Amino acid sequence: MADPKGFMKTPRRLPASRPVPVRIQDWREIKEKLDQGEVEAQAGRCMSCGIPYCHRGCPLGNLIPEWNELVWRGDWREASERLHATNNFPEFTGRLCPAPCEPACVLDLHGAPVTIKQVEQSIIDKAWDRGWVVPRPPDRLSGRTVAVVGSGPAGLAAAQQLTRAGHTVVVYERDDRLGGLLRYGVPEFKMEKRHLDHRLEQMRLEGTRFRTGVNVGFDIPLQKLRTRFDAVLLATGALAPRELTVPGRELDGVHQAMDHLTQANHVCEGDHAAPEIDAHGKRVVIVGGGDTGEDCLGTAHRQGAVSVVQLGGRPRPPDERTASMPWPTDPDVFEVSGAYEEGGEKVFSVTPLRVVDDGRGRVAGLEVVRVDRLGRGRYRPIEGTERVLECDLVLLALGFSGAERGPLLDDLGVAVGADGNVVRDAHWQTSVPGVYVAGDAGRGASLVVWAIAEGRAAAAAIDQELAGATQLPAAVTPQSTAI
Ligand SMILES: Cc1cc2nc3c(=O)[nH]c(=O)nc-3n(C[C@H](O)[C@H](O)[C@H](O)COP(=O)(O)OP(=O)(O)OC[C@H]3O[C@@H](n4cnc5c(N)ncnc54)[C@H](O)[C@@H]3O)c2cc1C
Ligand code: SF4
Repeated sequence: MADPKGFMKTPRRLPASRPVPVRIQDWREIKEKLDQGEVEAQAGRCMSCGIPYCHRGCPLGNLIPEWNELVWRGDWREASERLHATNNFPEFTGRLCPAPCEPACVLDLHGAPVTIKQVEQSIIDKAWDRGWVVPRPPDRLSGRTVAVVGSGPAGLAAAQQLTRAGHTVVVYERDDRLGGLLRYGVPEFKMEKRHLDHRLEQMRLEGTRFRTGVNVGFDIPLQKLRTRFDAVLLATGALAPRELTVPGRELDGVHQAMDHLTQANHVCEGDHAAPEIDAHGKRVVIVGGGDTGEDCLGTAHRQGAVSVVQLGGRPRPPDERTASMPWPTDPDVFEVSGAYEEGGEKVFSVTPLRVVDDGRGRVAGLEVVRVDRLGRGRYRPIEGTERVLECDLVLLALGFSGAERGPLLDDLGVAVGADGNVVRDAHWQTSVPGVYVAGDAGRGASLVVWAIAEGRAAAAAIDQELAGATQLPAAVTPQSTAI
């Protein structure tokens, strides 16, 4: 056990955020670092519970009490080993994960869980700084080959596991750079891309091969990959965007959130001086109350928006757990995100009615109406509550409807379910033998932690099939919703 009295004598403490007026001038990450002693004290708050409920919240099966104790004892190197035992990319989850482990922590019974995510990030940052993260190429090659389509966290996790198991792995990516939504969706201020680049370099040195600018289905048929490789893994994400179906959607100045975020990320990469979809000097309305909308909010502020309003259909969640969301469930409570701290207005319980035309084909406003929530995804407009929000830019962050349809899936007739996700069996195999699926493509739009967990588990299934046995760990099944 870590410090037996740690949880009584050390209050929960998170690192400070950089001041708002400073951080919106740049794209760097928001959080400051805690010093080593402070992180060790925070890790010492862990009680090494007989039943570690934190595990219940983690799809990766992270060995949380083990690395908390190691950090508290100052053995950071061993903590990094234990962290990597269950997670290929803790620098991604340490920054991006909503950390369902924390509301599941026993100390959340008093509202002050162990700062698990912060400890995780501190371990991996130190491991990179000290040179402990090194390439781990396989001892020998199996002679078997795997094609991975898509280089998001699911594809990368699977590729790293399979490469280390001795298979020759080629990752195909249609974008010009690798990383999936971590590259062109998630903004730099949430995760600086240098973390992605370090990891990709490690993977290259281990032997994983990467082919960018290859749109499988268009540039090369899936059939060809199936013939050329012993197995194919689809890790192509759930990138089909939901549309806004109101009059005026076609007006100039109404864009999908992902187009806005992708362009902003290209600017950060140095590809362009300014984005085409630029919030600079504009009044912005974001339709969609979720995380993608939050990312647009932070991006719009950094681009110099005059004002930003974020709309959501749901009522405002409560500030604290209610009787219907007791510990250790992951509660649906109102959280002030880093982006929201920087400004902007959130409007709940409204839905758009039409985009207002300025008479020249450009957006001049968005007419909205207040709604009553009837159930999940079902709303009733309240008559007489219509109003127009004047704006110059409307960003649609309405989520995703599943895997993109087209030649990639149609070529071999890969089955897609009514939910828009690629159908898979208990071994991650699609309806086409030898073709597997992991991550958002099979699960629907989800989280980085699930993508990594599914990529690892699909790799184990492929290794089992190719080698007849596997030592690769799998913490989730295709049916998992929580651990
Ligand atoms: C704006 C935004 C912010 C997010 N923020 C967070 C967050 O903070 N925390 C969190 O946990 N989750 C977040 N998510 C969700 C998270 O990014 C995804 O769940 C995760 O990236 C899914 O990983 P994946 O590997 O399954 O797919 P993706 O990351 O979507 O990667 C799929 C890749 O496949 C490629 N591809 C598709 N079709 C083809 C083809 N035919 N040929 C070649 N390549 C192809 C795509 O170009 C893409 O690179 C966010 C999502 C969005 C949209
Ligand atoms: S539930 Fe919290 S206190 Fe208990 S082992 Fe997990 S992190 Fe430590």
